Amino acid sequence: SSSTPADPLAALADVFGFAAFRGRQEEVVRRVLSGQSTLAVMPTGAGKSLTYQLPARMMPGTCVVVSPLIALMHDQLRSAQAVGIRAATLTSADDDQAETVRRLHAGELDLLYVAPERASRSHFLRLLTQAQLCLFAIDEAHCVSEWGHDFRPDYRLLRPMLDAFPQVPRLALTATADEHTRKDIVAQLGIAQDGMIVAGFDRPNIRYAVSARSSLTSQVKAVLAAEPGAGIVYAPTRAASERLAQALNSPARQVRAYHAGLAPEVRAANQSAFIGSANMVICATVAFGMGIDKPDVRFVIHAGLPKSIESYYQETGRAGRDGEPSKAHLFWGGDDFIRARQRLAELDPARQQGENARLASLAALVETPQCRRAILLRHFGEDPPAQCGNCDNCLDPPEAIDASVLAQKYLSA
Ligand code: ADP
Ligand code: MG
Repeated sequence: SSSTPADPLAALADVFGFAAFRGRQEEVVRRVLSGQSTLAVMPTGAGKSLTYQLPARMMPGTCVVVSPLIALMHDQLRSAQAVGIRAATLTSADDDQAETVRRLHAGELDLLYVAPERASRSHFLRLLTQAQLCLFAIDEAHCVSEWGHDFRPDYRLLRPMLDAFPQVPRLALTATADEHTRKDIVAQLGIAQDGMIVAGFDRPNIRYAVSARSSLTSQVKAVLAAEPGAGIVYAPTRAASERLAQALNSPARQVRAYHAGLAPEVRAANQSAFIGSANMVICATVAFGMGIDKPDVRFVIHAGLPKSIESYYQETGRAGRDGEPSKAHLFWGGDDFIRARQRLAELDPARQQGENARLASLAALVETPQCRRAILLRHFGEDPPAQCGNCDNCLDPPEAIDASVLAQKYLSA
């Protein structure tokens, strides 16, 4: 939009009221403004949305944002509209689709959010040919890769839309992609290999701890007793999240469940109570957290093995977004690996290799007698110091480890 200053820093202040860019946001924004397609890999909470929202506001034409979840889109829509960005979603849940298309064609939209299922249809492509476009933003871009931890086949069908507008730059965004996945993303989306910007992954204020599971409920109870503040407990199943919530709830500490099987109004009520609370605990499946912006989550507990290191990083990353000291506790057992292997056996062989590698990385993380953070950061291609001083193993070095390495045994079984 024309009233916005051409200088990114001035526009940042003008549109968002922020005094400075964070991390590598400015580099991404400048690349986009100069028309260079880019893959931005930045941690959760780093501020990826701004790297397409700001250019969308500065350049003439509409930015099409591909986003995997309607709930996520609506959160983004609200925050964009709150700062005066002209944004709309085009989903089956919207009853104003004709009006949105009119605004698109009239040049009245900075941002148009769509799901990949729609973006890959020829009908949507025809709509775009009558619009002026400035950018394609592909959010949660790891979904395009079978190597990523959340493959969505519809992301693979975006290419014809992107290729129909070769002059429009592409910005792929993800918080969680290892090197293999990154290479796959740029190849799939037609972004140059040297168009990657990978920001640091370290979250120094999060203290990581991993323990063998013995009596889960009392272990989680002990953590709750020791940790003040709001927290999230990730349970492996809906039933487990309800059981835990019931066992943990007390007059002193409200503990509620959250999963996709609850009535929408119960889920919404529990979520908003949590957002507003300074010491409530949510026992949730991994359905909880995407798009939730609560800066003062003080701890995240995994009551079972996460799906991958990427998921672990993303889920623990919901703690301490305000930069204050926070904790991440993981409780795991050998049976977690047995179940994971059973699920793996049902996948088609092409995916088994990647899933196997994912499990091996998780085994390394939970079993290491060395620095957890170092393992995490190396997984994302960084070269961290050998000791972080803020994880269980650095703070309380384990005795020399028994040679019968449990999870490795299950992995090779
Ligand atoms: P991500 O998608 O990378 O997880 P978001 O785009 O949701 O992160 O941004 C996380 C939070 O950071 C948002 O509340 C956003 O307003 C804030 N934010 C982003 N960039 C800046 C900045 N330069 N200065 C201050 N706050 C910022
Ligand atoms: Mg985001």
